[in-house]
Amino acid sequence: MPAADSYEWRTAPCPECADPAARLVPGDSDRADILLCTRCPAHGRLPYCDPAVIRARLPLGVVLAMCDGTLRIGIPAAPHGLNTYTRSVVTLATEHGLLPVWRPSVRRHRVILAAPGPEGAWGWMEVGARSGRILRATIYPHGCSASGIRAAGPRDVRQLVASLSVPGSVAGC
Ligand SMILES: [Zn+2]
Repeated sequence: MPAADSYEWRTAPCPECADPAARLVPGDSDRADILLCTRCPAHGRLPYCDPAVIRARLPLGVVLAMCDGTLRIGIPAAPHGLNTYTRSVVTLATEHGLLPVWRPSVRRHRVILAAPGPEGAWGWMEVGARSGRILRATIYPHGCSASGIRAAGPRDVRQLVASLSVPGSVAGC
């Protein structure tokens, strides 16, 4: 079991509305197994979230915890030695709704990038363990059902990540 500080904690994303402002809070009814989403009603959805569904739509390696009345997720912390550019691309991916889950290795680290939600983008990036530099990435912008896009080298990978749509920016759905 990894130590608590080997995770980065953030608010759990809602798999139904994928609204970045959503918080998942305990229901006030006798249904302790159900969570309420604070933003789903704004998107015309029922506020109820099933924790099992939330769990199923998060990348493997992410842990869940209730903290201060809000569901939070713990993402395995990034390995040491990443260069500034690599860190900025990972931050950019986060801003585009992707959750980075690191799989550190001796030669090359892999980071799985996955957006919560049924049609969420998904992919992975490889980073040289010694250089801390991005090697390549493959991203499926519309989930597994559509074809993936590959990019090689830090600049092209950054461009690929930047081209992904930002959650909450899609109007009228
Ligand atoms: Zn929601």
